[in-house]
Amino acid sequence: MTETTKTLCPYCGVGCGLEVQPPALPGRPTNRDAQGVPIWRVRGDRAHPSSKGMVCVKGATIAESLDRDRLKTPMLRDSLDEPFRQVSWEEALDRVASKIQTARTTHGPDSICMYGSGQLQTEDYYTAQKLLKGCLGTNNFDANSRLCMSSAVAGYIQSLGSDGPPCCYDDLETTDCAFIIGANVAECHPIIFNRFIKHHKRKRKVKLIVVDPRKTATAQPADLHLAIKPGTDMMLLNGIAHLLLKWGLMNTYFIDECTKGFSAYAQILQKYPPERVARRCGIPLADLYKAAKWWGRSKRVLSLWSMGVNQSVEGTAKVRTIINLHLMTGTIGKPGCGPFSLTGQPNAMGGREAGGLAHILPGYRLVKNPEHRAAVEAAWQVSPGSISPQPGKDAWSMMTGLEDGSVQVLWIAATNPAVSMPDIKRTQAALRNSPFTVYQDAYYPTETADYAHVLLPAAQWGEKTGVMTNSERVVTLCPEFRYRPGEARADWEIMADVGRRLGFEAQFSWQNSAEVYAEFAALTAGRPCDMSALSHDRLQTGGPVQWPCPKDATTLAKHGQQLYTDASFNTPDGRAVFAAFDAKGLAEPADAEYPFVLTVGRLYGHWHTQTRTGRIDKIRKMHPEPFIEVHLRDAERLGVKEGDWLAVRSRRGQAKFKAQVTSKITPGLVFVPMHWGALWAEDAEANALTHPEACPISIQPELKACAVQLEKVEPPGSITAAVESAQEPAMALR
Ligand code: SF4
Repeated sequence: MTETTKTLCPYCGVGCGLEVQPPALPGRPTNRDAQGVPIWRVRGDRAHPSSKGMVCVKGATIAESLDRDRLKTPMLRDSLDEPFRQVSWEEALDRVASKIQTARTTHGPDSICMYGSGQLQTEDYYTAQKLLKGCLGTNNFDANSRLCMSSAVAGYIQSLGSDGPPCCYDDLETTDCAFIIGANVAECHPIIFNRFIKHHKRKRKVKLIVVDPRKTATAQPADLHLAIKPGTDMMLLNGIAHLLLKWGLMNTYFIDECTKGFSAYAQILQKYPPERVARRCGIPLADLYKAAKWWGRSKRVLSLWSMGVNQSVEGTAKVRTIINLHLMTGTIGKPGCGPFSLTGQPNAMGGREAGGLAHILPGYRLVKNPEHRAAVEAAWQVSPGSISPQPGKDAWSMMTGLEDGSVQVLWIAATNPAVSMPDIKRTQAALRNSPFTVYQDAYYPTETADYAHVLLPAAQWGEKTGVMTNSERVVTLCPEFRYRPGEARADWEIMADVGRRLGFEAQFSWQNSAEVYAEFAALTAGRPCDMSALSHDRLQTGGPVQWPCPKDATTLAKHGQQLYTDASFNTPDGRAVFAAFDAKGLAEPADAEYPFVLTVGRLYGHWHTQTRTGRIDKIRKMHPEPFIEVHLRDAERLGVKEGDWLAVRSRRGQAKFKAQVTSKITPGLVFVPMHWGALWAEDAEANALTHPEACPISIQPELKACAVQLEKVEPPGSITAAVESAQEPAMALR
């Protein structure tokens, strides 16, 4: 092994290239963390096309988390009330295989579920699909991408004929106007934001429009900040389109030649006159005009969005309406233009390519399509009809399946649903009801481990070799460069071992992850996400590659290539499809009893439920505790000052937070970061408040908004609070 290993940051979907080096290098002092423990050196990879050497605090500090609180051996218990006992892999996997076999014969294949994660590598995802969908005959595989990107997936499929973000990060540096909606890019995708903001500073005519009810770090440098009321995004998007139509700022040639469905959309737009839209959105009329004018008059418009759009009961409608604006103005398939979803997790894109949601199959295929099923069955050497035509259970349906007994085996890998799912008390009760839960993770303790019968130690980033795809379709090899703690194994190895124990030796005979990837890459041939030219060797020697990259192409596409440059889409007739959606608003708006809307989000340093970042000193110091942002006016009305404690209650549960009083949030709205579970703070779970109502098309829950009431309370630890808490048992993790 050379001293420097090139790899990819394992946190967010930006997918920054990293270079890692051993703690001890000749002639240099050993690299150590704050506690004096030797740790790997990490820096940005200047040669990586996506990040060009940049890296944020999460990527820069990743090495500190690698040896802390690792799960090192398999653990087993018969009931959740017992302590775990250490067992051999043999015993643990025999138990898993026998529980799956029993559930399969007594309750049918659909009683078995796996819930995975955008943290998994493509080889892990692919192995899981083969096991569940091909061998066991159930499509019950879903990933935490369901909570993150499934509205974007549904929107791309319905409007453009296929999943796959059409844009590239290079577009950030050629656009005339960036329209960022429902994404705090500066904190959650910081390197993407850096790339755009340098361009914005260099070119004075370039516009930045930010749509967000909070004046986030992203909104601060905006030329126009539209602080719309929560749930009025569709109203705004249709209002902008209304003005473009009225002013004739459209590309009629593109609409006529490359799209269909425009007249139904144009009809809907009549209902969105600017005065109505501005009033409902709570923004000045002049700002609405300005946004529409900038969009309509810019040659190159790039829209960027994330959870604020996707996590909504109107998620797919919003995505499709954003795409409508690009179709209407012909700003798609050209440099600096297009609809660009910002993926949350490092390999949620790879997961989608590998078929890692309940309704899809490898190579952007659909379970409901008989030709797609037949192609995958042939490749997997399973009998025709093995793959079910029915979409499997989505993440929330797995929880309700535990409630009603239809789920008998739940296998969770690399994610922490006991913190991240909506309506968390109900989720935790459902997990407690599980007849048998396998939990495969790199760390212990985690909140979800409390609900497991079997714990399987997983090798994580740097301890296994696999591939990840970032938001701009760039595929990067992440090689194994360090030892595996204890008996940890790669996720795909664990799943393949269970597959063999269940009798599928031929399907799981791979010797290494390069063979897994080769099988997967071959299955993408001829598909929109064709990466049949790729292999571990090719990525190791040639570096990251952006798909499509078909095997028969004479040269690989150069980096920065958009999709749909010929304006021919992946629909049967090649035309993109306009969607005509009316604005509906929130599933649970504020009312007299619950007069505030709560929104949740992420902070710059932390990642999801803190399984890694909670174990990194620098990040814990950066974000020491959870909090709630309240507008000045609301705080005054409630008699709340900075640092006071607020009890926040919704129809489902409650939590307590220290108040941060600010003018950077819309009155009537409060904000809580989603990172703190029961392991990291008492009574501060944002998802104790959220609800599971979901977009009917993407089945993505509306985690971004629910109605709450606020009450000023004594700080925890005060005499009054101590008396109160003595009457209720404190939440104890274990
Ligand atoms: Fe990692 Fe995302 Fe930060 Fe890049 S922006 S270093 S991918 S967390």
